[in-house]
Amino acid sequence: MNSRASVFPPGKAVIFNGPGKPFEFIETELPPINKGEVLVKTLYTTICGSDIHTFSGRRQEPPNVVLGHEIVGEILWIDPAHPAIDQRGTPLVPGDRITWSIFAVPANVQAPRADIPQKSEQLFKYGHTLATCNDVFNGGLAEYCILRANTALLKIATEIPLKVAATISCAHATVAGALRVAGMIENRSVIVFGAGLLGLSCLAMCREAGALSITLIDTDASRLQWGKKFGADKTSIFNSAAAAIPLLWPEADLVFDMTGQPDAMKAGIDSLALGGTAIWIGAAYPAKPVPVDAQKIVRKILTIKGLHNYNYQDFEYATTFIEHNYLKYPFEELVEKEFELHQTEEAFKYASEYKPVRVGIKIN
Ligand SMILES: [Zn+2]
Repeated sequence: MNSRASVFPPGKAVIFNGPGKPFEFIETELPPINKGEVLVKTLYTTICGSDIHTFSGRRQEPPNVVLGHEIVGEILWIDPAHPAIDQRGTPLVPGDRITWSIFAVPANVQAPRADIPQKSEQLFKYGHTLATCNDVFNGGLAEYCILRANTALLKIATEIPLKVAATISCAHATVAGALRVAGMIENRSVIVFGAGLLGLSCLAMCREAGALSITLIDTDASRLQWGKKFGADKTSIFNSAAAAIPLLWPEADLVFDMTGQPDAMKAGIDSLALGGTAIWIGAAYPAKPVPVDAQKIVRKILTIKGLHNYNYQDFEYATTFIEHNYLKYPFEELVEKEFELHQTEEAFKYASEYKPVRVGIKIN
């Protein structure tokens, strides 16, 4: 416990109490800051697709949760037990703008594998944790966020627009992980299913990594309009009802699925060239099984890989990618509508109804 944090005024937080129930707006004192923690002023939060799944009840989260895990903030205070350096070794001081990993592995817990820290036991995840009287500032929809010890932090430049910086810690880092598990991208042909933020980020990362050709596929023609701006050579409409007919796009070495839709994942496998790999990251909520033709997998020597969230290496790759490319690709335009914290209810309703690529919440 440290009393120095008590110099900061009470903060507002928005609590989600379950699908169909109104958000609860509260204002409360900061709790004591524990050993190794960092207090952040939340600047901006973007509403991720999985937040909308929670809002609509398609994904189960505990009731009483402060949602939002695509967050950017400014350091207010660093506990003396924190090393005060970021993931890249850059010293950190109050006033620095930072992005941070969606998860923190508790100090006494060993990761199941060094490259899969995000699957550690008792994992803490921002925007996914029960809000209690002493622990409300743990999600993006609040004026403060208290960063647990062992959260990976990265200092970022204030020139990067907040709308773009907020999306690093879920969308872009997850896509960086997808590229890592895909292996070599250079001179490979790529298909991306899903023209949301994950898909568009994947186009740009594959383009920068030297992909030979990139095709973007979605059921929504208006979403496909973003494709060329983010590096796609070709875009194509997907009609799941016609999934059995011959495909309208060429086979590819790598197929990324960002949709989580069984029909799209099946079409993705059918689109793989000999020796190809499908990388699935969209299927993070329950859906019907994907019908897989085992003989096709064997005879075409195909590989299917899954990835949930990301590791520290992916987080750093994504941050560096955005630092180098935030002006080259129009990421800022993808936050199509902006709200303030007190308009959270309206923001979620708008995101559910109009399905913009992202809705942003300006907080401080
Ligand atoms: Zn997310």
